Amino acid sequence: MGWSRGGARAALAVLALAVLAPACGRPGAEVAPAGGQQPLEAPPARALDAYATKLRAAHAARAAAARRWGLRRVPLTAPPPPARKPRITTRDGFEVEGHRRLDLPPVFTTVPTGDRVVFLTIDDGAEKDPAFVRMMRELRVPYSAFLSDYLVKEDYGYFGKMRDDGAGLHNHTLRHPYLPALSHARQKREICGMQEVMEKRYGKRPALFRPPYGNYDKATLRAAKACGITHVPLWNAEVFADRWEYREWDRALHPGDIVLTHFRGREDWKGTMPDMIRRFLHKVTAEGYAVARLEDYL
Ligand SMILES: [Zn+2]
Repeated sequence: MGWSRGGARAALAVLALAVLAPACGRPGAEVAPAGGQQPLEAPPARALDAYATKLRAAHAARAAAARRWGLRRVPLTAPPPPARKPRITTRDGFEVEGHRRLDLPPVFTTVPTGDRVVFLTIDDGAEKDPAFVRMMRELRVPYSAFLSDYLVKEDYGYFGKMRDDGAGLHNHTLRHPYLPALSHARQKREICGMQEVMEKRYGKRPALFRPPYGNYDKATLRAAKACGITHVPLWNAEVFADRWEYREWDRALHPGDIVLTHFRGREDWKGTMPDMIRRFLHKVTAEGYAVARLEDYL
């Protein structure tokens, strides 16, 4: 449940923006005390009025959650999913030989969009911190998890809760190998094998695959395609509990950027997963970006 938003109609979406604009729609909006909402003027119809009331309640809940989790600002609300999906192509320099001719899945680090949104992706599955699941549920911030079975099998139920909250669960191989060192057949076992685990445990074969370490070759993409993978999202920035790292020289966020992080805790990091999410949301919100669902743009 939660923030899956397939059914929102355009009129409602416009209204949603209008309703949320006073408190949520600009960067720098401070966490306001409860009850600080602007009244809605002249609702056009009762259904829209009810919808607006629901949105205001959702925003108030999000503002309260932001305070509870120690955020300086309320995360911005993402625009409705694009009616026409962007055309995703492989980033320059990331192609393999015959990429287009063989119609291999695109490898990309940023989604081409004019929307001021970024996407949060979380890899592997080592840390299983219940506070992280609660935090994301309460803040209603979407994310996609790229799971590797050797870590996830310690507690499949933990990641099932994320799926129930609306997160996308995707393929990051069975054992997290450096794929280019493996034959095509062994790469296919790593990727197709994980598709089967995901279907058995979570009821769905993922469409998205991320190769461990971001390393792949032509055999990887051929195997991924044969296993039913349509897209290979990498990342343009990475966030840790104590810092950011960037692929680009400008060290900035761009519309449509995919952000990488990991399921890690104090054993690997100078902080917890909630610390990492606070660092992530602080920069994203301060720079005027909302977090959108990657799956809505693909
Ligand atoms: Zn990984």
